[in-house]
Amino acid sequence: MTDPKRAALRKLIDPLRVEPGSTVILPHGFDPRHTAGYVAKADADEALRSSIALLAEYQDRLSAQDTYAVLVVLQGLDASGKDGTVKHVMSGVNPAGVHVRSFKVPSVEELNHDYLWRYARALPERGAIGIFNRSHYEEVLVVRVHPENLERQRLPSIQSGKSVWQRRFREINEWERYLVDNGIHIVKVFLNVSKEEQRRRFLERIKEMRKNWKFSAADVLERRHWDEYQQAYSDVLSNTSTKWAPWYVVPADDKWFTRLATASLVVDALMRIDPQYPEVGPAERDLLAKAKAELEAEG
Ligand code: AMP
Ligand code: MG
Repeated sequence: MTDPKRAALRKLIDPLRVEPGSTVILPHGFDPRHTAGYVAKADADEALRSSIALLAEYQDRLSAQDTYAVLVVLQGLDASGKDGTVKHVMSGVNPAGVHVRSFKVPSVEELNHDYLWRYARALPERGAIGIFNRSHYEEVLVVRVHPENLERQRLPSIQSGKSVWQRRFREINEWERYLVDNGIHIVKVFLNVSKEEQRRRFLERIKEMRKNWKFSAADVLERRHWDEYQQAYSDVLSNTSTKWAPWYVVPADDKWFTRLATASLVVDALMRIDPQYPEVGPAERDLLAKAKAELEAEG
């Protein structure tokens, strides 16, 4: 990997990073239409292809080294492009090394456990890339906007004066720190779509028959809570962007840029890990030499 390429990657992703400790008040400071100087999709195509090729190469090394994992946390409102991003960004990688998990309304069994249980069970193993399509962050987003979800979790009552959300931010930060310390690198992506673009995408899903399945009447009900979600997301970004697992706000009004930025973030994480093919020791080298001699003698 040459330095200019790496520098170009950093130039694209650094401005998207939420500085740990900073206060975010959406929509200020993050433009959903930002495209980092690319004017159109065709402009960015080559960069996307090159990122996907790098991703495939690094994934092979990650898997061979079998020491680290990458967890991609994808968050965003309905129609922000989560599914399409997974599909496009992961198009070039070996499916054996990638696991995608989508999180829906929790089941009875899941509600019988602590709130992080189902996410912990879905973590990628060493050598793999795991994608959370929605994630533990729903526990401080949808659960916060619709507090009846919290009642279903049957929590013991908490001491007065402490908000359950502040406590969850701390718990999530500590859990992520534990994961990173144990070799699971975390890439947190918030797909930042504008209200107008969401409206356009919903209408498209309704008008185009082949997209009808993507639309649910509940989506329009959720949209009525737009401002509450913007506030909840602002709070998440302000409280859970940490040195060990920073948030990136990825502009989501142009799908092609969303894909390029997300692919670049995953490549950057892999470059930081810089996984190496394992080297065989003298004993194994000896065995390899013997096997080689035997196979050649047969020919
Ligand atoms: P979708 O992503 O369109 O398949 O929808 C999944 C639904 O599950 C969304 O409406 C989410 O808000 C909901 N969901 C995901 N996680 C949770 C959670 N922890 N508690 C309540 N609802 C959730
Ligand atoms: Mg949906």
